[in-house]
Amino acid sequence: MIGIFGGTFDPIHYGHLRSALEVKEIFGLTEVHLIPSAQPPHREQPAASALMRLQMLELAIKDQPGLIIDTRELNRQGPSYMVDTLRSLRQELTNETLLLFIGSDAFNQLKTWHQWPNLFDLAHIVVMTRPGFTIQNLDVFFNSRLTTRITELANNGAGKLYFQQVTQLDISATDIRNSIAKQQNPGFLLPDNVIAYIRQHKLYQRP
Ligand code: ATP
Repeated sequence: MIGIFGGTFDPIHYGHLRSALEVKEIFGLTEVHLIPSAQPPHREQPAASALMRLQMLELAIKDQPGLIIDTRELNRQGPSYMVDTLRSLRQELTNETLLLFIGSDAFNQLKTWHQWPNLFDLAHIVVMTRPGFTIQNLDVFFNSRLTTRITELANNGAGKLYFQQVTQLDISATDIRNSIAKQQNPGFLLPDNVIAYIRQHKLYQRP
């Protein structure tokens, strides 16, 4: 099984990193692909450029075997639809089971994603619980896909929904950007080398 973890990563923080490491270990994955979004379709455009977000990601995960940066969305034109990303991964990894990891906030918005039912044709979706976001909308569509067994994920190529508790870190990129704009110190919310990069490039100075 291969893990897919998409995000804006504006900037990458310990909420992303700790969750990615935990799910890698819980699901016994050799690889988790961290996929920075070029043009997120469902939100304001990122404050930092794609290149800078990528460079911060590189700093954050160096020396973390198994966490892999996957730049396919940055190399594509147009909105970064996850369904297109999964299709392109599927072409490369024909026989692999794909686990798409999303936080509970993202799950609550899933029905606004481009061609969202097709996501389940391509991958399983694993929802990582996130502080402050309770799960809504668990309707018939989702309930029929729900499983509580990891073996069921391994035995099916795609199509299941699974909820995984991860260490609750109430950290968000929005809060980090806002605290930097207020000249506050974001220490211990994200790696020091990423903080140094943000300072060097004077990122997130304005609210
Ligand atoms: P922003 O505040 O700018 O919206 P964010 O902190 O939510 O950013 P994203 O890059 O948008 O970060 O998130 C990428 C993925 O990581 C999403 O699926 C999101 O739900 C998940 N995620 C983000 N922060 C956490 C966290 N603290 N714990 C668990 N999952 C998280």
